Amino acid sequence: MTVFKNQGAQAGEEWPHAHSQITATTFVPRRILYELRSAREWYRDRERCVFCDILSQEIRQAKRVVDNAGDYYAFCPYASRVPYEVWLMPKTHNHQFEAPLAGESRRHLASLLGRTLRRLLQVSESYHMVLHTSPNTLQTKGELSEYWRTIAGDYHWHIEILPIVQQRSKSYSIKEIYFNGTLPEDAAESLRKLDPNK
Ligand SMILES: [Zn+2]
Ligand SMILES: [Zn+2]
Repeated sequence: MTVFKNQGAQAGEEWPHAHSQITATTFVPRRILYELRSAREWYRDRERCVFCDILSQEIRQAKRVVDNAGDYYAFCPYASRVPYEVWLMPKTHNHQFEAPLAGESRRHLASLLGRTLRRLLQVSESYHMVLHTSPNTLQTKGELSEYWRTIAGDYHWHIEILPIVQQRSKSYSIKEIYFNGTLPEDAAESLRKLDPNK
């Protein structure tokens, strides 16, 4: 199941009113599968969650962090695929978004998401926003079951936001290879300067 939001005509928005969408598939989308596989391999090698490692590095370096509220951080990932790409992630490890959040925690997430989107809308009218969370692990049989064994430890839910600020260069449009001329450090700095309440 995928929860996503396409905002703006460029992102393929289908209705003019505020909306998000859910699609259910019988397979795990390829990009998520790559992510699950990489997270599991990292965990196997180091017995640590790769996302916890990424976020603690981001907080330590503080160059790509845009904003934070309580346990949640918004940052431009090190290898941003597009200019102003932003990820939102809780610092406390959790593989499932739907695990119950305390009221205060929910408010922090909502305010950070609102602030981040208001910043992004000042650099781009359109974006894709996708929730990455643990797939349904009740499917214990079949080729995917192997993935779920350590998922509570190796995966960490997050939200990925991909603004559409430029046409992707055609010569670099090979699948899974991205050309991005904007450094995430510069993108984060610009976003930090924008009014999050505008
Ligand atoms: Zn983690
Ligand atoms: Zn992801």
